[in-house]
Amino acid sequence: NIPSQRFLSVEAAKKENESLTNNSEKHEFQAETRMLLDIVAKSLYSEKEVFVRELISNASDALEKFRYAMLSGNNTLEESDRALEIHINTDKPGRILSIQDTGIGMTKEDLISNLGVIARSGSKQFLEELKNKGKLEDNNIIGQFGVGFYSAFMVADKVEVYSRSSGNQGFKWSSDGSGTYEIQPSEDVKLGTKIVLHLKMECREFSDEDTIKSVIQKYSNFVGSPIILNGTKA
Ligand code: ADP
Ligand code: MG
Repeated sequence: NIPSQRFLSVEAAKKENESLTNNSEKHEFQAETRMLLDIVAKSLYSEKEVFVRELISNASDALEKFRYAMLSGNNTLEESDRALEIHINTDKPGRILSIQDTGIGMTKEDLISNLGVIARSGSKQFLEELKNKGKLEDNNIIGQFGVGFYSAFMVADKVEVYSRSSGNQGFKWSSDGSGTYEIQPSEDVKLGTKIVLHLKMECREFSDEDTIKSVIQKYSNFVGSPIILNGTKA
């Protein structure tokens, strides 16, 4: 009893099955974002470590937003007594770096509008500069303007974002930095946001605890919340 005459490769069948069972949705990045991602991913910019600064600063912003929501008397917030922290974990054999905050979190709509569209002034300036110059002779403009969240793609060939905000379901966002990203509901997502970077082979140093520790120390002065590296205060 052959139910249908469709012949999918094992991989394609697996993918289709996954997307059906996970309610995974595929979205396209906005054209401008795609262009930015393309440049960032191919960048030979030597100070790649600036992505740590960008992701820590986003985590810190998210924690501030949560504090603000609490102070402004929102008493419907879930787990409002939770520790407000940034947890960074390294997995050297797995070549993974993750940055998790217990901040405000994102809804599905937030994930789409915040991570799929360029709103950030730094990124816009970056693209402007690029248009003027024609090309990137001086790779330093990535560091100069800061490309925010997208800087993750300088070092990672796959980025996963798990996020949940108070009163909402958790979602997983993932992308390899090419034209599209996927979003699907995800169980057991903690309140806040966790960014998981699957590091490129040539960037595997960022899954080394000592390397990350020294990078964190460079930037952590500006952060108002505790940073915990592999379970220990950095
Ligand atoms: P910027 O921080 O300048 O706004 P980014 O590219 O760094 O630009 O981030 C884009 C947006 O994505 C942020 O404005 C925020 O809304 C959202 N975002 C990124 N990281 C987080 C996070 N850890 N928690 C909550 N929201 C985040
Ligand atoms: Mg930012």
